[in-house]
Parts: sequence; C-alpha cells; structure tokens
Amino acid sequence: MEMEIGVYRVTTLLDGPLRLDGGAMFGVVPRVAWKKKAPPDRANRISLVMRCMLLENMENGCRILVDTGMGASSNERESSMFGRDGSFPLLPERLAARGIGVHQIDEVVLTHLHFDHSGGATSLDHQGRSVPTFPNARVHVQQAQLHRARHANERDRASFREPDFEPLAAAGRLVVHDGEAEPWPGIRLLPTTGHTPGHQMVFVTGRERGVVFPGDSLPTRHHLRLPWVMGYDLQPAVTVEEKRELLSRAAADKLWIVFDHDPDLEAIQIEHTEDRYSITQSIPAPAAP
Ligand SMILES: [Zn+2]
Repeated sequence: MEMEIGVYRVTTLLDGPLRLDGGAMFGVVPRVAWKKKAPPDRANRISLVMRCMLLENMENGCRILVDTGMGASSNERESSMFGRDGSFPLLPERLAARGIGVHQIDEVVLTHLHFDHSGGATSLDHQGRSVPTFPNARVHVQQAQLHRARHANERDRASFREPDFEPLAAAGRLVVHDGEAEPWPGIRLLPTTGHTPGHQMVFVTGRERGVVFPGDSLPTRHHLRLPWVMGYDLQPAVTVEEKRELLSRAAADKLWIVFDHDPDLEAIQIEHTEDRYSITQSIPAPAAP
C-alpha cells in the first residue's frame, strides 16, 4: 500500500512470510473456531507475514521505518520452524527495490523487541558479529520493553534475542522513551502492555486521515473480535481493554489500521455496528509474500 498522510508518504514493506502455531495466535479461542479463518498446516502453524511500515517525510526527506521483521536467519532449524526458506526478499532488498539503501534510513521505531519485529534491526558482519543493519538510524524503543527484554522469564524468554538489540545499545543507537511520545510532528508512539510491557503502537495523523500501526496489539484482521487475543500475550485481559480503546478510536476517526502479521490484508478501515467491529474498506496484500 502507499498513501499520503500529512507530510508523510506511507508504504508497507514485507520482511517475508512467517509461520506460527495457530493455538498460540488465538489464545483461548477454540481450534474449531479459528481453523476456519486461518487454516493450519500439518504442524498446526498458520500463514502469517512480517509487515513493516516506511514513513517518508516529503518535506525534509527524513525516512522512518516502523519494525524490521526477523531478518536473515542464521540456522536451518529455525528457518524451517518459522517457514522461512529463503525464497523471498528480505526487508533491505524490499527497500533497495524502492531505491533506498540501508544507510538512508534515519530512524527506526520498534513496536517491541520480540525477534520477529526487531531481528532485522541487526545483521551479521563479515566476522559474524551482530551490527546495526541501518548504520545511520536511531532506534526508538520504550524503556519498559527494553527492561523486559533484558529480564524476561521462562514464559517469554524465547521471544527475545540479545543480538537483536544489545548491539544497538552498545553502538549508542537506542533512543529510549518512557511512555507516550511524539518524536516527530504528526507521529505519536502510544505504549500498550497486554502483549508485553512497553510495546508501542504508532499513530500517523494528517489533516484529513490517519494511520495506526498497532503492532502485536492487533496482529491480524481475525483479532478484531475482542476476545481473540494471542496466547503469547502476557496479560491477555489487558489486551482486550487496549483493543477496545484502539478500535473505538480507529472507527471514530476512520483510521487506516495496518496489520503487522495479516497475510491477506495490508490495511483496513472499520466501523462499529451493534456489538462488533466490521471492515468497511480494505487494502489486499499482493499475492506473493
Ligand atoms: Zn510480539
């Protein structure tokens, strides 16, 4: 998708496909209910993508990237587990196809530090060390998320990988926010806590329309139903309340909601009808991830 919001040109870019356990994606929702919407493969995984958002300021040229996907995987077991067979372009190639080199990204916002959002922020150099992928970019995260990534427990430890974020900290690239922030005019970072503490949603607001990138607070269109919350969430009941607030605002302000993990729809607009939210407009994803 490509649209103009205020001074920003907003584009979505994929970092390829991702397969995750269907049960983990839908929490307490019974398999018989979710499997009709998102058919699982033989390993019970459903098809997802890792979608990132590029914001280009048309006045001053500043380029802001929201999330970085998982990046190149260093081992085969993992590539196979997540359905990443290497047959698709990664985020840097997607940017290159638009004529944008990695050194031309000025700012990166990470919704959170789970590896499927932050993994692409670092890459291996010739000596096998993790270094920042976007050498000139500052990387914006929430303090609570950085703390969680460094002090995760057995429940969510597997979601965080030090090589994804510690090299950014060591290189002095991290900009750590403590709560709601507006680092650039028209772009607001709003923390949520249900998925993981210090997760942040990104709102881009223009005079006539706006976009929200809710990250894992609303990963696919199936999660529009309030009780459909990921099993990964540390505080699922909090996610329900955060979604209620997000969806009511998105419906009232006719915001475009961009999905980070939906394989079929890049973005939607919604309305509130009786007891549910329904899609009024959608932008379908291109056929091949
Ligand atoms: Zn996550």
